[in-house]
Amino acid sequence: MAEISTKPNNKALVVLSGGQDSTTCLFWAKKEFKEVYAISFNYGQKHQKETSIAQSIAEKAGVSFKLMDIYFISQLATNCSLTDSNIKMDQEKPDGSTFPNTFVPGRNLFFLSIAAVYARSLGIRDIVTGVSQTDFSGYPDCRDSFIKSLNVSLNLAMDEQFVLHTPLMWKDKAETWEMADKLGVFDIVRNETLTCYNGVIGDGCGHCPSCTLRRKGLELYLEHKNQKH
Ligand code: ZN
Repeated sequence: MAEISTKPNNKALVVLSGGQDSTTCLFWAKKEFKEVYAISFNYGQKHQKETSIAQSIAEKAGVSFKLMDIYFISQLATNCSLTDSNIKMDQEKPDGSTFPNTFVPGRNLFFLSIAAVYARSLGIRDIVTGVSQTDFSGYPDCRDSFIKSLNVSLNLAMDEQFVLHTPLMWKDKAETWEMADKLGVFDIVRNETLTCYNGVIGDGCGHCPSCTLRRKGLELYLEHKNQKH
């Protein structure tokens, strides 16, 4: 009987935003798969440089890069501070609201569906995304249940056997830093990624919710690391 492999063709497509999480996932995929591809989306985000940062990270990693224009998402999103410059970003979840206005409705649904169609055209079944439920900021499309459900839907939609990989799903930010360090890309992730909602590369502006989360994780990781030495 033929052995059933979870990696039939050893190729993977990574959804890359140029942030800490997806960049760490890109290098994770490089370790796990022989051939790695990256896809980024222009969805009308305020910080257009996100996509050029993603591209230069992909080049540095030596993986093929595809930029997909899905600008229409910004026309669908209302009251979203990531796509509308006139809206002030929530520092945290407002009272009585399910999520902060940094939520782009349907973003991961669109990203992963488009990624799957693109992956299929390349003969790729394995798709990697950096979503995490651990530092859950109220984004429903970062949850494990959503990813599992979408995985089934994508398979049914295209009669394929995609596998959506979420290496960070149960990791907090400190553990994500640890993972980058173990993969030997701590400096690249620290200095060359863009996670900051205010568009400041590396350690960022220091005060937006994303920078705060990233910095706390980094401090915690470095503290643990130093204790071990
Ligand atoms: Zn920031």
